Amino acid sequence: MLYDNHVHSAFSADGSMSLEQITALARGKHLGVVLTDHLDLDQPNGRFEATDYAKAGAAFRSCGLLLGTECGMVPSLAHENRAFLNQSAPDFILGSVHTYCEAPTLAPSGRTPLPPELFWARYLDYVLYCLKTHPFIDSLGHLDYPARYAPYEGLCFSWTRDEKELSAIYRFLIEHEIALELNLRRFTKDNLEEFTENYGAYRSMGGRLVTLGSDAHRPEALGERLQEGFDFCRALDLLPVHYEHHRPVVEEREEHL
Ligand SMILES: [Zn+2]
Ligand SMILES: [Zn+2]
Repeated sequence: MLYDNHVHSAFSADGSMSLEQITALARGKHLGVVLTDHLDLDQPNGRFEATDYAKAGAAFRSCGLLLGTECGMVPSLAHENRAFLNQSAPDFILGSVHTYCEAPTLAPSGRTPLPPELFWARYLDYVLYCLKTHPFIDSLGHLDYPARYAPYEGLCFSWTRDEKELSAIYRFLIEHEIALELNLRRFTKDNLEEFTENYGAYRSMGGRLVTLGSDAHRPEALGERLQEGFDFCRALDLLPVHYEHHRPVVEEREEHL
C-alpha cells in the first residue's frame, strides 16, 4: 500500500477535511495517509492544539492514518517548533519553508521582488539555513514551492542554474538521513524534465530517500499522481518511504493500483 505523506485536515487553517472523511477516502483509494497539518508558528492561525491532535491521530491510527506535522521552518522559531513537536509526538516531521521575506508571494505585501536570477539562489541558501536549524525533520517539503507562485516564467526550479545551492542542500539531507519530498502538486508532464534533472542529481550525489505527497487540502486531491510519483522514483533508483516513529519504511507497489 502506498502512503500519501502530505495531507491536510481541518486541523490546518486552510484545510477542511475531517479525519473520518480522510480515512474513508483513503480506504476507497487503497492508500495509507500521513496527516501533515500546519505548524507555522509565525502565522496567526498556524498552530493546532498539540494534545488534541495527538489524541485524534491515535484514535485513527488503526484506520491506516499516521500522524505527521508539516513544520514551517523559521530559524528563530526552531526551539519553539521542537518543543511543540515533542509534545504532539508525530510519527513524521515534514520541514517546509513557507515564508521568505524577499519572495514575491511568500512575503508581506509591498516588498519589491528580487530579479529571478537572484531570487532562487538566495531562497535556496535560506532553505539550507532553515535546515541547519531544524536537523530534526524527517523530510524536506516542496523545495520547488516558489515555482507555484513566483511569476518567473521559464525560470522555475533548476539544477542547471542552481547546482551550487541545491547540491549543498542535498548534501545536508544525505548526511543527516533526511528524505527529500517529491511534492506531487507540480508533478505534471509539463514539468517532468525539471523533476528528472533535480531528482536525478539528488540520486547521483547518493540520495535515495524520498517521501511522496499530494499536499491535499481537499478530497479530490488525496493521492493525486501518487502512483506516477512512485514509478518516477523507482525509475531513478530512488527509494519512496513513509515514516513510523521517525523511521523510514520502504513503500511497496500494490498491483491493483
Ligand atoms: Zn507547505
Ligand atoms: Zn502542505
